[in-house]
Amino acid sequence: MKLTEYVTVSDLANMMNIPVNEVIATCMSIDMMVSINMRLDAETIKLVAEEFGFETEFVSSDVVAAIQESTEEDSEEDLLDRAPIVTVMGHVDHGKTSLLDNIRKTNVIAGEAGGITQHIGSYSVKLPSGRHITFLDTPGHEAFTAMRARGAKATDIAIIIIASDDKVMPQTVEAINHATAAGVPMVFAFNKIDVAGADPNKIREQLASMNYLVEDWGGKYQCQEISAKKGIGVNELLEKVLLEADILELKANPKRRASGLIIESSLDKGRGYVSNILVQNGTLRVGDVILAGKYYGRVKAMTNERNQALKETGPSIPATILGFNGPPSAGDTFNVLETEHEARDIANKRTQLEREQGLRTQKMLTLDDIGRRIAIGNFQELNLIIKGDVDGSVEALSDSLIRLSAEEIVVRVIHKGVGQISESDVVLAEASQAIIIGFQVRPSAGARKSAEQAGVEIRTYSIIYDAIEDVRSAMEGMLSPEIKEQVTALLEIQQTFTIGKVGTIAGCMVKEGKIHRTDKVRIIRDGIVIHTGALESLKRFKDDVKEVAMGLDCGLNIKGFNDLKEGDLIEAYQEIEIKKKL
Ligand code: GDP
Repeated sequence: MKLTEYVTVSDLANMMNIPVNEVIATCMSIDMMVSINMRLDAETIKLVAEEFGFETEFVSSDVVAAIQESTEEDSEEDLLDRAPIVTVMGHVDHGKTSLLDNIRKTNVIAGEAGGITQHIGSYSVKLPSGRHITFLDTPGHEAFTAMRARGAKATDIAIIIIASDDKVMPQTVEAINHATAAGVPMVFAFNKIDVAGADPNKIREQLASMNYLVEDWGGKYQCQEISAKKGIGVNELLEKVLLEADILELKANPKRRASGLIIESSLDKGRGYVSNILVQNGTLRVGDVILAGKYYGRVKAMTNERNQALKETGPSIPATILGFNGPPSAGDTFNVLETEHEARDIANKRTQLEREQGLRTQKMLTLDDIGRRIAIGNFQELNLIIKGDVDGSVEALSDSLIRLSAEEIVVRVIHKGVGQISESDVVLAEASQAIIIGFQVRPSAGARKSAEQAGVEIRTYSIIYDAIEDVRSAMEGMLSPEIKEQVTALLEIQQTFTIGKVGTIAGCMVKEGKIHRTDKVRIIRDGIVIHTGALESLKRFKDDVKEVAMGLDCGLNIKGFNDLKEGDLIEAYQEIEIKKKL
């Protein structure tokens, strides 16, 4: 069997055509607790494969070797302190953005001209004490989990922000669980203490009931009351983060060749592939040959978050680089290699391997599987297709759903990707009896129609937690009625106007259904949900109306949201109680 290191338990089972529980059982027999989507190292793969009579050949061995060269021991005197890399996580609206904005505004590196001008996914700030903290400003938990799923640990410390006029919410719990699972120390920030009725002690109590006892109540977790909006307590919070960092004794060796993480990549029309990276160790220089996943290149240019050109960048310092021949994924690690030739070889091999492994795992879903299902009797599979707005959410959602697998029901993600739900997704779902899960994306008109015809279920979500809970309760057979969204109308924006205090008004045509004044709405641009909210007004000509039916035009504006463009779609929906089916 030819394979790469770090295939997942389920991939390995597929390749050997053996039920995944047997692979898990074998791992347990050697005292390794594994989950279905955990990646295994070469040694374990070899052991498990031998157990089932397979010989393994690691096609990637030379890939690994090439990169290992740079993982030699550091000598003690070369190891220098590095800044901690910190993420802020928490429930939506609890103040993540406000906190990061406040930190960015008040802690611009002294003497440097200009504020932070580019969004590069992370930035370094200098505190009054002279020390630095690097903030990873990725879209929250999803990216965090995606990076972790790839085996990369991006963050040293997590700030968990909780609004003290609210309570511990599902996403707060999600954030705490992610950080705990990753072994990342947490510092709690109780935000919005300036709001009347804020009660941080209530939050302390809730955390205590979850077994997270904060320091001022005798526990081990540091916490700080803050107002992100007014800047109260933020410096104290950062000092506590640094205290936590001191315990970690974070070191790196700037003398070695750079390695680190890809935070985001995109294609810029003029400049080619642009990647935001974070050096974790070593020093990266313009001209270095760099490799991440199946892409490589020579660093052509490097800038910091102030859009200043850099010649080199060291540990814990973020940068944007140009030079990759493609977009590496968020969470990929990058390495600097000796020659371009070497990088190209490894990149090519990885591409080829990915293709081979893709084929192999796909094929396994056919006859063999059905046979096995029949043989086992009550063995069931829940096939899912996952589409999302960004790579990070797709990876995170898919990992979480796979993890729901139980002995009698295996959750299998047969396809996942970024972008709107297409007709080919529906075709695939139909062929494999899969359910399509969309996260912050919607089906195209064609896909919606063919799904209806084929009876393919498409479920769309805006909160990862909801998607997981839905699938979980469906699996547990808790098919009680629940609140579900029902789409009431689809509108297209035909014109927009901006009116002083009111904001942006959109002239729309109701394409399907009927929109009601009380409906909630989502704004969809190119198949991606860019905003979810409520209507501020709904008018026909100059009059406020309760509803507007299909084929009529209307004017509307959205509460607290003005980024409306011609051609955007508006999906109106209501929350109703219906019987669940999955
Ligand atoms: P995010 O969704 O977690 O990024 O939350 P935001 O930073 O966007 O904050 C949500 C809302 O809470 C915004 O309207 C903020 O102005 C408000 N907010 C955030 N922090 C504070 C605070 O400390 N005090 C008050 N009064 N409002 C805050």
